[in-house]
Amino acid sequence: MTARILSGKDIAKEIRKELKVEIDELKAKHGITPGLAVVLVGEDPASQVYVRNKVRTCEKLGVRSIEHRFPADYPEADLLKLIDQMNEDPDIHGILVQLPLPKHIDEEKVLLRIRPDKDVDGFHPYNVGKMLIGNPDFLPCTPHGCQQILMRSGIETEGKEVVVVGRSNIVGKPVAAILVQKAKGANATVTICHTRTKNMAEHTRRADILIVAAGKPKAVTADMVKEGVVVIDVGVNRIGKTPEGKDILAGDVDFDAVKEKAAAITPVPGGVGPMTITMLMMNTVKSAKMRIAK
Ligand code: NAP
Repeated sequence: MTARILSGKDIAKEIRKELKVEIDELKAKHGITPGLAVVLVGEDPASQVYVRNKVRTCEKLGVRSIEHRFPADYPEADLLKLIDQMNEDPDIHGILVQLPLPKHIDEEKVLLRIRPDKDVDGFHPYNVGKMLIGNPDFLPCTPHGCQQILMRSGIETEGKEVVVVGRSNIVGKPVAAILVQKAKGANATVTICHTRTKNMAEHTRRADILIVAAGKPKAVTADMVKEGVVVIDVGVNRIGKTPEGKDILAGDVDFDAVKEKAAAITPVPGGVGPMTITMLMMNTVKSAKMRIAK
């Protein structure tokens, strides 16, 4: 069996088209332009690329982006003050502080300072709690992107064995929390694996749907999956450079070998990556709409 390739890139395009219609309508009917503020502290090269892509996507969709870039030694107190100002700014519907932050800044303190109704990353404990009880305002972008890939590819999750590799707060735990809900596109039986899991392959081989967010190339190999599995590979690993100096990316799954056993698999790049930014846009539009309802 050679797997069907689940193109997050194509699904993201489809969702962006739908969002563009909603954004145009928000402008025409309500005079509201969704606004997203993106804050980058420091010079982390990967973060610079992420921020650039976010700003570019905003421009394409007609979302107003407000970019704040600061040197690595930017004081925490100033960052908190800026967040306070943005919390009060009615033209800003979403606030995103790019992680990781430099060591002298307390990440938790910063995330807690963002008003939950502008927390389009979905990382504030208020939003994490709402997700857990099944009444979310903003779902975290990467896990939501994984769910959307499954739903929009017609892959049923109800009653399925979902195994998640990784338990981070930004991917592993929330994707498990989303797929276990009593809801459409969820209702799965979910297992979470991590570095202390004994005999991980015994778990992964049971998976009907395997979601891998370990941050390790080839953390999942062909002998660890069953025939017909659906694989969502969240990992992004820089495994070398092209002669032109561009990064060569790979996921966490041994793609070439696993695609021969899987029914469907996401590629890296072009899988979960493009979905993450799209879900950020979806949350920003949702936040702008929530403002009308108030
Ligand atoms: P993370 O914070 O480093 O967490 C990795 C998790 O995987 C940890 O829970 C760790 O277990 C577990 N793990 C690592 N190696 C393992 C192994 N060999 N077997 C079992 N479990 C293992 O990473 P993250 O932030 O969740 O990100 C995961 C990957 O997704 C990274 O490659 C990241 O770049 C990528 N990512 C992609 C997107 C996107 O938009 N495409 C977004 C976010 C992240 P312990 O808890 O026991 O240490």
